Parts: sequence; C-alpha cells; structure tokens
Amino acid sequence: MQNKLVLTEVFTNALPVLEVLEQAGFEAYFVGGSVRDAMLGKDVNDVDIATSAFPNEIQDLFKKTIDVGIEHGTVMVLWEKETYEITTFRTESTYQDFRRPDSVTFVRSLAEDLKRRDFTINALAMDKDGYITDLFDGMDDLNQQVIRAVGIPDERFGEDALRMMRATRFSAQLGFDIEEETVLALKKNTALLEHIAIERIQVEFIKMCLGQFKQKGLAYFIESNLYEFCPGLKKEALRKFSAILPSLDNERQVWTSYLLLDEYDTNRLNAFMKSWKLSNKLIQQVMSLFRSVKFRMESSADVLYIYHLGKELALETENILSYLQYPADSEAVLSIYESLPIYSKQDLAVKGKDLLELTSAKAGKWLGDALNHIEEAVVLGKLNNSKQEIITWAKQHTLIPETDKH
Ligand code: ATP
Ligand code: MG
Repeated sequence: MQNKLVLTEVFTNALPVLEVLEQAGFEAYFVGGSVRDAMLGKDVNDVDIATSAFPNEIQDLFKKTIDVGIEHGTVMVLWEKETYEITTFRTESTYQDFRRPDSVTFVRSLAEDLKRRDFTINALAMDKDGYITDLFDGMDDLNQQVIRAVGIPDERFGEDALRMMRATRFSAQLGFDIEEETVLALKKNTALLEHIAIERIQVEFIKMCLGQFKQKGLAYFIESNLYEFCPGLKKEALRKFSAILPSLDNERQVWTSYLLLDEYDTNRLNAFMKSWKLSNKLIQQVMSLFRSVKFRMESSADVLYIYHLGKELALETENILSYLQYPADSEAVLSIYESLPIYSKQDLAVKGKDLLELTSAKAGKWLGDALNHIEEAVVLGKLNNSKQEIITWAKQHTLIPETDKH
C-alpha cells in the first residue's frame, strides 16, 4: 500500500481548514476512520481532523465554532456549510475504573496522539498533501486485514474496556481478523466491560450486528465471552441469531430477532430493552414487530392487522418469519396493503367536526368511538369512504347522540 493518497472530494473540501491551522503555525492532519476507510478505497462521509492547536486557539482561528466537548479537546468548526470535528492532540493520562479517562492532557505532538488510539489501522494520520504518518505499521495491518491494538493489548483494554467491543465491531465492519495477542487480551479482559456504560456498549453492538461481515465480528464476540457482560445475552440464542444475522438490516430487526430466538415472552421484553437502555421509540417498534411476528406464527395476515401495522413493519414481519422458517407471504401482505381503501384516519372522508355538526352533544368519548367504528368499517370494505355514506351509516348504527338539532 502506498504511503501517499490522492485526496478525494471530502478531503479537498476540508483542506482550507487544515491550511488555516497550519498558517497559524500549528500542525493539522486528517485522522481516524476517514483515513483508514480512504486507504481501503471505501466511501468516506466525514473527516476528522487532529491538530496541535489547543481548543481556545482553534476557537480564535475560526469565525463559526460550536463547543462540542472542549474538555476533551474537540471543537466543531463550520466551514462552507460543512462541519468538521477538530480535536487537539492529546494523551490520556488518568484512567479510573477501566473506562474513558476523566481528564485528558493536551499535547503538541502527533506521535503522542497516535499512541493513545485504539488500533493500528485507526492510528494513521494524513497531511494536506496526502502523505501518511504510520508509526505503528497500520498500513501493513490494513494490507493484511488485521485488527491489532496499538502497543500492549492487555494494557490498552485495561485502560478502556470499550475497545474490546470496538475490536469485534471493526472486525464485523471490515471483515478483518483480530490479531492473536489482541484476541488473547480480549479473552482475558472481558469482565472489565462491566465498567462501561451500557449506552456505549449498545452503539458498538449494533454497529457489529449491522456490519457487512457481521457473522465474523459476532463469532469473536461469542468466542471471547464478551457477551456474558452484556445484559441478558445467551450463548445458544446468539449462535442461532448468528445464522439469521446476514438477513437483518436495521436495529429493530436485530433486537426483535434476538428476543424471539431467546424465547422471551412479551412480559419480559420491556425489562430486557430497558437494561440495554434502548430509546422509547425503538422499544415501541421492537414491541410491535415482536407481537406481529408472534401473531403471524399463529394466524394469517388480515386486512385490519396490516392496516394497523403499516407496510414497513408488516413486510419486516414476513421477512423475520421466513428467516425463522415459519410460513410467510410478503406478496400477499403487499397486495392487501396496496388495496387498502385508506392508510390512516386522516384519509377518512369524514372528520370529527363533521360528526359534531350533526348533533348538539359535546365532543366526548362517543366521538372517538364513532370514528374508530367508521375507520374499521371503511378498512374492512363494509362502508365506502364517502362523506354522505359514512354519515348515513353512522346514524343507522346510532354512533351519533340523538338530539333535536335535525
Ligand atoms: P467510524 O467509521 O465508525 O466513525 P472511526 O474509526 O472513525 O470509525 P470513531 O469512534 O469515530 O471511529 O473514532 C475516531 C478515532 O478515534 C478512531 O479511529 C480512533 O483512532 C480513536 N478512538 C475512538 N475511540 C477510541 C477509544 N475508545 N480508544 C482509543 N482510541 C479511540
Ligand atoms: Mg468516525
């Protein structure tokens, strides 16, 4: 692999930022994932910049900055409608409790900064001309497709246990092997994961499960016993999960499939998801998907079911059913969906206010009930979605309180 790269557009767009820093007498480089991915010929969406300038010096140099974590040395700079995270070279001096250090020490040396990075492939720096600084043979490891800790793996995982999750996630994203010593250190230090906030573990876990080489990363995750220090995961279920993993392509499918394979019942779902601190929105989605798969294991897909679930979840349900080797029928679901007369209450030809006009009664529970009945009748094709027909039908079914108004 060459030690010079032709800069692509994302990098050239950011060059003026590097130049501002350099003209003020500081060093500045592209670093981290963007350099790694560019070397691998992958698409790079955003670039990270590291510099010898201290945060207050960065703020002085640029007109528009956002303080995103000054105490960790990161300043966000707005430049030509793009935002760039600029991080001061730093060492991580005090590690307490095997997690991110409480304090960081800013330094002026690139070498010091690269030394504190997790893996050799993530410890490359690239200057404005595309020349690579590679102090830990990261280019060789990229060539050989290896994830290797910078320095002594055992020490590095002891400093920050999240790095173990990151090793498996990079393996899952890149399809690389984890180097032998690094694997040994991983196996030895798994218990340290207990010190890491679950939110941070979750991010890496999901990236692993959605990586292009997910089964590879997951194999390390299982073999090293890292899973034992993640809430509620079991080896047997993970093995089965691994077999269907390639078919899953979003977070809610990942969680739903795992929970189904681990034979969770609906009552315990919530506790599991809370222990992973999933967002409420995601919890709701997983609940729906889990319930719909359970429902479909025993019943066929009917019109009301598809209407309430919506197209996306209904199709995801069919997919999960088929991975779990239950009979599924995406085509039937799609054709039912496409022939639905309405897709939500908003599509009804009658609104609450139209019903209120027919009576002197005040809005109340009756109104919601009436709209629900109308909605169901329309969805089931028992009633046409026309204002006049709905009103006649509602009167016939005494859904509107009798008054002397008409
Ligand atoms: P991604 O493509 O997922 O963003 P990335 O390599 O850029 O991958 P980030 O989490 O964005 O990963 O981190 C940026 C860089 O910061 C890494 O490449 C690595 O050099 C360094 N880094 C991040 N987290 C750690 C850590 N826990 N320990 C040491 N270095 C880290
Ligand atoms: Mg990144």
